[in-house]
Amino acid sequence: MGDHLLKFVSRDPEPPHKRPADARVQDFNEIRDPFSVPAASSQAGRCSQCGVPFCQSGCPLRNNIPDWLQAAAEGRAREAYELSEATNPMPEVCGRICPQDRLCEAACVIEQSGHGAVTIGAVEKHLTDRAWREGWVKPVSVGPASGFNVAIIGAGPAGLAAAERMCARGHAVTIYDRHDRIGGLLIYGIPNFKLEKHIVERRAQRLIDAGVTFELNADIGGETTFDDVRARHDAVLIAVGVYDPRTLRVPGVGSQGVVKAMNFLTAANRDGLGDERAPDAPHAEGKRVIVIGGGDTAMDCVRTSVRQGAVSTTCLYRRDRANMPGSAHEVAAAEEEGVRFEWLASPKAVLTRGDEVSGLRAARMRLGPPDASGRQAPEETPGGGFDLEADLIITALGFDPEDPPTMFDAPVLELTPRGTLAVTPFGRPAGFEIGAGMTSIDGVFAAGDVARGASLVVWALRDGLEAADQIDDWLAARAQSQAEAVSA
Ligand SMILES: Cc1cc2nc3c(=O)[nH]c(=O)nc-3n(C[C@H](O)[C@H](O)[C@H](O)COP(=O)(O)OP(=O)(O)OC[C@H]3O[C@@H](n4cnc5c(N)ncnc54)[C@H](O)[C@@H]3O)c2cc1C
Ligand code: SF4
Repeated sequence: MGDHLLKFVSRDPEPPHKRPADARVQDFNEIRDPFSVPAASSQAGRCSQCGVPFCQSGCPLRNNIPDWLQAAAEGRAREAYELSEATNPMPEVCGRICPQDRLCEAACVIEQSGHGAVTIGAVEKHLTDRAWREGWVKPVSVGPASGFNVAIIGAGPAGLAAAERMCARGHAVTIYDRHDRIGGLLIYGIPNFKLEKHIVERRAQRLIDAGVTFELNADIGGETTFDDVRARHDAVLIAVGVYDPRTLRVPGVGSQGVVKAMNFLTAANRDGLGDERAPDAPHAEGKRVIVIGGGDTAMDCVRTSVRQGAVSTTCLYRRDRANMPGSAHEVAAAEEEGVRFEWLASPKAVLTRGDEVSGLRAARMRLGPPDASGRQAPEETPGGGFDLEADLIITALGFDPEDPPTMFDAPVLELTPRGTLAVTPFGRPAGFEIGAGMTSIDGVFAAGDVARGASLVVWALRDGLEAADQIDDWLAARAQSQAEAVSA
């Protein structure tokens, strides 16, 4: 090991420069400047190269982090990039939007020893951004034609990762999506200030260049039926995500000015993409905005609201800061940008003037004993209610699957008790983690949020890769049994 590494004692963690809050709320651009090459190498050199790389276990893709940090620290940037992309089909996306403080960086040994984690995500982003600039990103590898044709329903990260792997296996791939653009939540959910859209578009183009067929504006279960798709292809992967928003059940919720998070975020992303704004598209400009929820979607809503020019933006969450599901970095960024948080507060009623929202009545909560999930359950504090004024209330309470058996008119598709598609990992040992596998229909697989439940992009990528491998095994097994039947 050269003298470029183990600098964690003498060198502090320094993520790329974050633009000042008052400047960044003026636009929808990403909030951090890019790393310079020397800064990225210097930060990679903080890695302690520990014998047991816990960071790797903290990464759902099991990225070979210590090796690419070492190569980056030693100035072998191209090699570092190649190591990183060997396990991750979208390293520059993960580097930007993984909640590293809950994944790889949380597990980093020098974080545990109090020195502050290596800025793993920022180095990963830097390496792949540089690879795109320098022309190191190779076209998708396409294997010798297998003769099989696979359908993927859903062009989100799970579907795109599966497509890339299936190209390598030589299968022809068609991706159907009900949207007009490729990327799923990477395009219409996650805001630009976390992930600029050209990053996703160039990944989509790389798949088009490899021969993947995209059928957009194709709502499967609508004009094109699920049976049509099954009839056209040898195998099908369902990667449709989860889009059924959990609803707020309080009086007044049907009033004008109460909107669902995805409607708000999709409209904002369409604005950024240059689409004409629909007359009824929700917008925060000049409004007093309340966002209800404490996850990443709620954080995206509050930060979008600030950028759209809201007069005030308040986030209402029923637990406290320590128990918030959203990334701590996102909460900190939102606070810097002027978002006010009402912790331990839960909606009681939407207040109205005529048909329109005028405010929200909230109850003050406290944390009681842990519930079945092990988390402290919020309970109402008697007499602690308060009112807030509002013109726009955005509900961001999480998502459930949209009932795939009904969506696809396929009642034989089995669900788990959580409403996700029940899958059995094909050809994998019992106990294999369920995020991808074959559904109750032979040859129909599922991956990503629709099988795992609302999760993260990095898990969707892993599930997509895993599903592609299982489909490949299933096709091979089917071909073999057909050959045996012919020769018998
Ligand atoms: C607002 C928001 C912010 C998030 N921020 C982060 C973050 O910062 N970091 C992170 O890691 N994760 C984040 N997530 C979670 C992450 O986006 C998802 O876990 C991930 O996108 C799931 O990937 P997927 O491919 O399973 O589904 P999706 O990305 O949801 O893609 C599913 C695709 O299927 C299509 N589809 C659905 N039904 C049909 C149909 N019947 N016919 C045809 N097409 C269909 C949809 O149009 C969509 O394009 C966020 C989620 C949301 C909602
Ligand atoms: S993919 Fe996500 S979890 Fe894995 S190393 Fe990159 S940033 Fe960390």
